[in-house]
Amino acid sequence: MFRLINGNEISSSIYEELKGRIASLRSKGITPGLAVVLVGEDPASQVYVRMKGKKCEELGMHSVTIVLPADTTESELLKKVDELNSDSKIHGFLVQLPLPKNIDEDKVINAIDPRKDVDGFHPSNVGSMLIGKPLFLPATPAGVQQMLIRSGVDISGKHVVVVGRSNIVGKPIAAMLVQKGAGADATVTVVHSRTKNLGELTKLADILIVAMGKARFITADMVKDGAVVIDVGTNRIDDPSSEKGSRLVGDVDFDNVKEKTAAITPVPGGVGPMTICMLMANTVMAAELSLL
Ligand code: NDP
Repeated sequence: MFRLINGNEISSSIYEELKGRIASLRSKGITPGLAVVLVGEDPASQVYVRMKGKKCEELGMHSVTIVLPADTTESELLKKVDELNSDSKIHGFLVQLPLPKNIDEDKVINAIDPRKDVDGFHPSNVGSMLIGKPLFLPATPAGVQQMLIRSGVDISGKHVVVVGRSNIVGKPIAAMLVQKGAGADATVTVVHSRTKNLGELTKLADILIVAMGKARFITADMVKDGAVVIDVGTNRIDDPSSEKGSRLVGDVDFDNVKEKTAAITPVPGGVGPMTICMLMANTVMAAELSLL
């Protein structure tokens, strides 16, 4: 019988811990502050940005949302980044990606003060993570690692197969789990669209982490009996039987794969809630760092 790894439950317990840290900061006159910069009107981005603001309010954090028009120039955005770098009420901020095509994302990320880079995308933070001395870990991979640790999955010595090599999920999760030390020490294989015999490699995984963006791609024959499966994918598919006419599914064929696993994350209710939670945790940490 498989076990469900529930991202809502795990994130709730992390939020409880954060509330204590936020109360302690507030008693010292510091309210952790997060700013989110949104350029343009991408509907998915608007939803994420609203969720981040709402969560800050719930936790008693200071939250600022800066919405800039879609025709904002690169230099205007860089000026806004500079302002936030020197705003003492803002301990962490992020620029919601993707950005309009006229703006160089790398230039913008490079302009963020690494001590306020709560998304963990600045090359300095990526490098620190790689050498095992992280400041801010990127939220989704950090959420995946916390889900494994907090649901009692022993990662040490296990063969982890990561499907996907993006800079925001696949590569960082691989880099994090291969580190020396607690909550890591895994043997890691990364597979991607150029990998040959993908299903043979996924079948070797004790822990299979999937971040492809391909609805229900991972089928039961690609998974080892007793594996732990973490599904990062979020894909909207047509579903005439639902009110909205569509629903969210992961990259794993959950209904057929679950019985083979020792534990598996659902979509929705798996990695999704962990991502915002880790962003909040990074912001609280940024506020704590401001005291040092
Ligand atoms: P990207 O599109 O940036 O990367 C997808 C990766 O999957 C690439 O490395 C690609 O390989 C690989 N891939 C795609 N198709 C195949 C295939 N047929 N066989 C093998 N590998 C394949 O996506 P992200 O990493 O940004 O996101 C992945 C998924 O996770 C998406 O569904 C996204 O919505 C979701 N996500 C969810 C989050 C959450 O909070 N729950 C947060 C972030 C992402 P190649 O490099 O060769 O092209």
